[in-house]
Amino acid sequence: MGKVFLVGAGPGDPELLTLKAARVLAAANIVLHDSLVSAEVLAEVSPAAKIVDVGKRCGRKLLTQDEINSLLVSYTVTNEVVVRLKGGDPLVFGRAGEELQALREAKVDFEIVPGITAALGAAAAAGISLTDRRLASQILFSTFTRRPEANALEWGALSPATTLVLYMPSLDYAEVALRVQEAGLPADLPCVVVSGATGPQQQIRWTSLANLPHEEKLPAPALLIIGRVAAQRFQELAAKYWAETEGFVDGAVRPVS
Ligand code: SAH
Repeated sequence: MGKVFLVGAGPGDPELLTLKAARVLAAANIVLHDSLVSAEVLAEVSPAAKIVDVGKRCGRKLLTQDEINSLLVSYTVTNEVVVRLKGGDPLVFGRAGEELQALREAKVDFEIVPGITAALGAAAAAGISLTDRRLASQILFSTFTRRPEANALEWGALSPATTLVLYMPSLDYAEVALRVQEAGLPADLPCVVVSGATGPQQQIRWTSLANLPHEEKLPAPALLIIGRVAAQRFQELAAKYWAETEGFVDGAVRPVS
């Protein structure tokens, strides 16, 4: 019986693969990958390996999740190194839970190789710090989808000192902005849209919650970073909030409340 490696492909730039991910790809017998995985990353796969695209295309699923789970298990019968390659990190919005359950039930040996999740690639691309002792003390990775069954937008943990990263933001920027303001965040809160982070098509738009509905829609994959840190004029804003929250008084450092 072979082993399944759940590997994070990172946000796009192949240089952001971990050494371990590159080594596993080079040793793979078969690779099942999502559509998010870039061609440059796939170029790292052993030339002898079979490559199967199990991602979605034009909104039509090529394979169901159950089919993918069964394939992973069955490929280990004849292959030593089976790689399940996912964009970003496999454990973030990647349905890894279902695949791991299937592997455990089938008693298939597996190993998880983490990757750089899109939020971190996007923050690096935009040059912003997701936490900042003057501005943001927590990060919330969430998702925005209209599907009623989705367990999305559990906003309980939101505060003005939260940096909110929204994966899979719906193309309806107006609705996203509205829902976030309904959750109590102010209209002038900075917000940055990053599309194709770290890849050749990367685009970045700096805006605010109030202006988000008027922004040009950027192509998928894209995500939103919302919060005090998401300002282009970061230092200026940092100083403003720092003063407003009395974070700096007589040389003493106080946390932002
Ligand atoms: N497991 C992945 C996330 C899969 S969900 C990870 O850890 O990154 C797919 C969503 O991730 C996309 O809709 C988009 O919101 C985001 N995403 C993935 N790659 C991205 C990229 N290069 N730039 C911006 N957003 C990206």
